[in-house]
Amino acid sequence: MEKGRLYIISAPSGAGKSTLCSMLINKYPAVRYSISYTTRAPRGNEQNGKEYFFINKAQFENMAANNDFLEWAEVHGNYYGTSKTQIEDALKQGIDIFLDIDPQGAMQLKEKLNGKATFIFIAAPSLQELKSRLEKRGTDKAENIALRLENAKKEVEYFNKYDYLIINDASDDAFKKLETVYLAEKLRTNQYNSASEFMNI
Ligand code: ADP
Ligand code: 5GP
Repeated sequence: MEKGRLYIISAPSGAGKSTLCSMLINKYPAVRYSISYTTRAPRGNEQNGKEYFFINKAQFENMAANNDFLEWAEVHGNYYGTSKTQIEDALKQGIDIFLDIDPQGAMQLKEKLNGKATFIFIAAPSLQELKSRLEKRGTDKAENIALRLENAKKEVEYFNKYDYLIINDASDDAFKKLETVYLAEKLRTNQYNSASEFMNI
């Protein structure tokens, strides 16, 4: 069976990464989202176990102390972390797993995974457009939008630590670009240790 591959996606909040990744998940059955743990309160119609596992600060700190996270970080004033077992199980089952994480978490994984994952940064064409998308989405209060825009300026400075940059503008190109990167990266030779893993010899 083909092994699953790990894709790390970062983008300032509102750049459209959930929209793009959902399109990919709908098209390719082998693609799934990693469901992170967070101390942030659910937003809108979010459900526990669907968008996130919603836990309190003490539970989060307990998991961190138990080394249950592949990475974790404080983002916009809340904790977010990726479950180690969830990722390991998915990859074993041949699932391609997409991690929607902030640049602090992505940088932790860059060191840990050393070429075994693909790092993609998604940006909006301007801060003004980012603001307008967050306002139109209508899930964040004004002060939260201001904080997310402030953080966006810092996050985008990490762009060149990633393998790929996709600008999500008004065209349909961004999805095509994400799909192209996904398919090409599945063909990386470094996912195999020997020819016997892909050929009957
Ligand atoms: P993120 O997951 O990066 O926070 P979302 O996918 O939730 O962002 O997108 C933020 C908002 O912008 C949503 O309301 C979404 O419908 C809208 N959006 C996404 N992509 C585009 C685009 N290319 N052009 C205009 N609006 C977009
Ligand atoms: P949101 O609150 O909008 O769902 O997410 C806020 C930010 O947290 C986004 O930048 C998202 O990528 C990041 N994030 C979500 N889950 C994780 C995680 O498990 N680890 C890290 N480091 N960041 C995460």
